[in-house]
Amino acid sequence: MKTLFTHISKLMGIRSELKFGAEMNSIDAIENAYLLVENGRVVGLGSMRELPQFDREISLENKEVIPGFVDSHTHTVFAAPREEEFVMRIKGLSYEAIAEAGGGILNSARKLRAASEDDLFEQAKSRVAYMIEQGTTTLEIKSGYGLSVDSELKMLRVIKRLKEAFPITIRATFLGAHAFPEAFQQRKDDYVQLVVKDMLPAIVADDLADHVDVFCENGFFTESQAEVVIKAAKRYGLPAKIHGNQLGYSGGVQVAVKNECWSVDHLEFTREEEWDLLTDSFKQSFGGTLPVALPGVSYFLGLPYAQAREMIEKGLPLVLATDFNPGSSPINSLQLVMSLACTQMKLTPEEAFHAITVNAAAALRMNQEVGSLSPGSKADFLVMKSDNSLAKIPYFMGQNQIDKVFVGGELYTQH
Ligand SMILES: [Zn+2]
Repeated sequence: MKTLFTHISKLMGIRSELKFGAEMNSIDAIENAYLLVENGRVVGLGSMRELPQFDREISLENKEVIPGFVDSHTHTVFAAPREEEFVMRIKGLSYEAIAEAGGGILNSARKLRAASEDDLFEQAKSRVAYMIEQGTTTLEIKSGYGLSVDSELKMLRVIKRLKEAFPITIRATFLGAHAFPEAFQQRKDDYVQLVVKDMLPAIVADDLADHVDVFCENGFFTESQAEVVIKAAKRYGLPAKIHGNQLGYSGGVQVAVKNECWSVDHLEFTREEEWDLLTDSFKQSFGGTLPVALPGVSYFLGLPYAQAREMIEKGLPLVLATDFNPGSSPINSLQLVMSLACTQMKLTPEEAFHAITVNAAAALRMNQEVGSLSPGSKADFLVMKSDNSLAKIPYFMGQNQIDKVFVGGELYTQH
């Protein structure tokens, strides 16, 4: 059955190609438009002056329509929030000092090991439902609070259940190399071997991950340890992403580009050298390493922001994500991330919009599938509350500007 969505005052984000640098500031749009959907996919779009054949019509009442958002970097499955560490930090302790005192990722790992799979699933389910209300219709979720074979598998099984429970697109990332468990603090290479020899084969056997990720940072995984994990994953056909350059010039960008990673995420510490490497990566056949900035972390921890403005000026295809996690970014709304990008990183609303739609989809190598409303893409779209919506999202900080969320052409939620 062909459903024709009519009376769209402005249909935006209609091309699936990655947006580089200055291209990020210009919106592809049709005014007074229709969108034709069949079997959950976009099969046509155009001006209301020439309507195609259809079986049923749904009027969108002269509202603006944009593609559903893509959150390419989250840690949505966790056992408990860490508001007590947040309060410690307000009182003056640094994130690193809290981690050394047994907080941080290892605190989440302890709580995760104790939690049942059902409990983790129920908690994550309500978080995902909220994220959809906020416009996220494609979501990447990482493991990495397990840090043992059983617990990493448990987290990834929860992500698999979330994939089945929701109509949105969910991608799973195995982040066993997130931190070193207590027992391995003195023999870190042994833990890397556990990740590649025990965890990875078990995860691949149950088809539980779409990519791997490594926390390549001073005090966490070195460049060579990251490379061991990435190369092992590659042998199983799993592409990699990197957490890098968050706490310093960690070499994360260098490892990511050298090993053809799909994205390198964080990037609070980058300079010409890293920007040039990233730029060159797009000339290579693997399609380039996308830079993903996570302004929620900088905001929440009071740390420097990634130089997103400079990266766009350099012509890079910037991506923004929430990094939703209980320690450094309890932010799971890409609308709020858009606000932070505009107010703190000086991105225009149009640039921030492309960074959470088509470019974010490319960080998952899914921009033919999601992140735009182009023929063949999944009909995931947002009907906005009022006109000039791209500017109103960052302007009305923290207020939901979405009236209706459609997933695969079906109404999912409405306000
Ligand atoms: Zn992260």
